[in-house]
Amino acid sequence: MAVKRRKNDLNILEKLYIPEIAKGMALTLKNMFRPRVTMQYPEVKFDPPASYRGRPVLVEEPETGERCVACGLCSRVCPALAIEVQAAETDREKERYPEKFEINMIRCIFCGFCEEVCPEEAIVMSKDYELVYTNRQDAIYGKDKLLVPVEELQDRLDYLRNFK
Ligand code: SF4
Ligand code: SF4
Repeated sequence: MAVKRRKNDLNILEKLYIPEIAKGMALTLKNMFRPRVTMQYPEVKFDPPASYRGRPVLVEEPETGERCVACGLCSRVCPALAIEVQAAETDREKERYPEKFEINMIRCIFCGFCEEVCPEEAIVMSKDYELVYTNRQDAIYGKDKLLVPVEELQDRLDYLRNFK
């Protein structure tokens, strides 16, 4: 069992915290010569890897528009109840599309469940981590903000094919 030293047992240097200050200074000095891990954000932007889970977005194909078929699975699985989908019919091959698709970004906890459950690879976690809004209404992202061209999401789609 460690014996607790009383204040009177300490020598003069210990009473003045000199050894502890020296240890702290040595640690600081050691870290000054290590490679930097911080970035000068926002001047320098972080480029996340494909495994990164930024804000969820909808995949947009150049010819056919959104991949989403408005099945509602993502909305059902979302633990934060952040997704609202309203389906409508279309003459196109897939027959249904989301007339309305909204994600409340204040609620979203970036869990990725929506991406996991989607049968069409229509919703994926992007690399976008810059979310700015000044009121609750602006935090509700509709299709205008959610649709992202498939080329910009290729990294993530390849990652999902390899590891999902
Ligand atoms: S990442 Fe999670 S919390 Fe956010 S919308 Fe998808 S399922 Fe909901
Ligand atoms: S994003 Fe996927 S899971 Fe969600 S409604 Fe569309 S097709 Fe269904």
